[in-house]
Amino acid sequence: MKILIVGQGIAGSVLAHLLSGRGCDVHLADAGMPGSSSRFAAGIINPVTGKRFVKSWNFDLFFPVAIQVYRDMEALAGLSLLRQYPVVRLLAAPAEANDWSARCAQSDYSDHVRELHDAREWAPLLKPGFHFGEISRAARVDFPLLLQAARKRWNDEGRFSIQNIEAERADEWLDEFDRVIFTEGFRGQFNELFPTDLWRVAKGEALIIRIPEFQGRRFNSMLKKTAIIAPLDDDTFWVGGTYQWHFPDFAPSLSEKDFLIGHLNEMLDVPYEIVDHVAGVRPTVKDRRPLIGESPVKKNVFIFNGMGTKGALLAPYWATHLVNHLLDGTPVDPEVSVSRK
Ligand SMILES: Cc1cc2nc3c(=O)[nH]c(=O)nc-3n(C[C@H](O)[C@H](O)[C@H](O)COP(=O)(O)OP(=O)(O)OC[C@H]3O[C@@H](n4cnc5c(N)ncnc54)[C@H](O)[C@@H]3O)c2cc1C
Repeated sequence: MKILIVGQGIAGSVLAHLLSGRGCDVHLADAGMPGSSSRFAAGIINPVTGKRFVKSWNFDLFFPVAIQVYRDMEALAGLSLLRQYPVVRLLAAPAEANDWSARCAQSDYSDHVRELHDAREWAPLLKPGFHFGEISRAARVDFPLLLQAARKRWNDEGRFSIQNIEAERADEWLDEFDRVIFTEGFRGQFNELFPTDLWRVAKGEALIIRIPEFQGRRFNSMLKKTAIIAPLDDDTFWVGGTYQWHFPDFAPSLSEKDFLIGHLNEMLDVPYEIVDHVAGVRPTVKDRRPLIGESPVKKNVFIFNGMGTKGALLAPYWATHLVNHLLDGTPVDPEVSVSRK
């Protein structure tokens, strides 16, 4: 089957890898459009999120698939793309600490959370007064490196083009390809071959910082209070993220920078330097479920989108689901179907 994938973010990259693994003749196009989200995301997979420490939707089902797919992509690229390391969770006493203890006592959370007596490697950097927990089965996918490796692969094989594929001209592409799959990120909300009223996209911003006092030290966990600090592989840390549902442009903003600095200062008691400030738009959907399936108005044109705030965890499982639908005829799960009401 000859397939054109439109968009090479994490969704398009993972989908292309899986389709090609099943023997499809895959081609990708990406126009490098502003506001795209994978390039600036930390790629964190965190099983327990939110103020009430709730396990992510179907985490135990999605996580092993994600690990398997990213390990396969790593082996193919010969690069280290996935790091499995825990999150040290800072807890304000006593309310958060009590809620955390209650979660730790639940049998269905015992593989994911536990209480800690100290902040481990983060202890010398922190303001006093916190309690601590640990979230295990967390990971981080190096999105920029994965995108770069995927781009190189498809480019070297002559299967990648820098090109804006307009949905209105789908018929022209269908002369050449058996299927066209749109993985356009938040721009999917403007694609009129699919319902456009399901979206509620969210701009997000992050800081990249350096902590001079701890330069050269390798951190083996992430740190989270309201913001999350994820050590990167080059002596810097990713700090994010923010949420804006109304925004005038795609550029990083002063207000969100101040917001992140406020949350950093709530945690850290050491000087840091801001080396970058980035922004992207998450492809979030009102009911927070992916959008998958064939266009209701154009046969053989599909969407694979709506990864929202959790592309790293969701893309491998749901790309596998779409591949099985396309190649084996298994039905699209109604919960993620683009035709859901
Ligand atoms: C600040 C921030 C932090 C985040 N942190 C995390 C995190 O820690 N963990 C996590 O799992 N998720 C995180 N996310 C969410 C994550 O970024 C998304 O879930 C995911 O990256 C979405 O990927 P995508 O491929 O669907 O879209 P995108 O990454 O936006 O990719 C879409 C691509 O399609 C291209 N394109 C669009 N339309 C066309 C067209 N018509 N023709 C050609 N090309 C086109 C664009 O150029 C772009 O490259 C974060 C997001 C932000 C903004």
